[in-house]
Amino acid sequence: MNPMAFTIIIYGLIAALAEILGGALVVLRKEWPTKIQEYLLALSAGFILALVFLELIPEGIHAVGFEAPLYMLAGYSVLHFFEHTIVGHLHFGEETHRDVMVSKIASISTFAGLFIHAFFDGFAISAGMQFDFSLGLLIFIAVLLHKIPEGLTIASVMLAAEHRRRTAFLASAAIGVATMLGIVSVFFLASVNEEIVGKAFAFSAGIATYVGASDLIPEINHSKNRIIPVLVFGGMALFYVGQMLVSAYFHHAH
Ligand SMILES: [Zn+2]
Ligand SMILES: [Zn+2]
Repeated sequence: MNPMAFTIIIYGLIAALAEILGGALVVLRKEWPTKIQEYLLALSAGFILALVFLELIPEGIHAVGFEAPLYMLAGYSVLHFFEHTIVGHLHFGEETHRDVMVSKIASISTFAGLFIHAFFDGFAISAGMQFDFSLGLLIFIAVLLHKIPEGLTIASVMLAAEHRRRTAFLASAAIGVATMLGIVSVFFLASVNEEIVGKAFAFSAGIATYVGASDLIPEINHSKNRIIPVLVFGGMALFYVGQMLVSAYFHHAH
């Protein structure tokens, strides 16, 4: 295995483990204050949106040219389709709507939606790192910030639908595996055709837009805590700091 592939897989494993940690916290009934969940989602949203506008969109256009926006729209659309067109009820954060989670089928469809979402989280990290490692590292941070809440989301959905604790934990582990499948899939695509990496990167810009603007922001806007919307700007500031640190350590290829 080449060293780059090995490095990317390690980052993927860290993201997957954060997912499983989120699931474990719910299953073990550890006190996990709503506040911290919301802080992480808000920071992640601001971070992702700054990343999308300042790096992913311009670099995607730089890489693919005038076709790039088409791949971006496709990335956005794929997540919208799998999370909200065929899935009835999916949102981030702990599942508190037991009334809509009465059927096991509802929880399975939410699981399927999050599985696809997590697959593309991994896909975006891998495509980003293969395209330009420093950019990929920023995508990794953006994903990592919302991974614990994501694991917590799926485990709490399963518990709300009255699945067993073991099943709820396995569901969060399966979502972690989906992240790894996304990581590995870009290697296969790249081995078929080198040019695919640039297109996959542009597609990832659309995915990141969806995660920031349609998964995380609506969840934050529901919060009764008025500090949460302000923290979105904190996430943008965090991106600025992260970008400075990353570019101080890695040569930016473009
Ligand atoms: Zn709900
Ligand atoms: Zn995610």
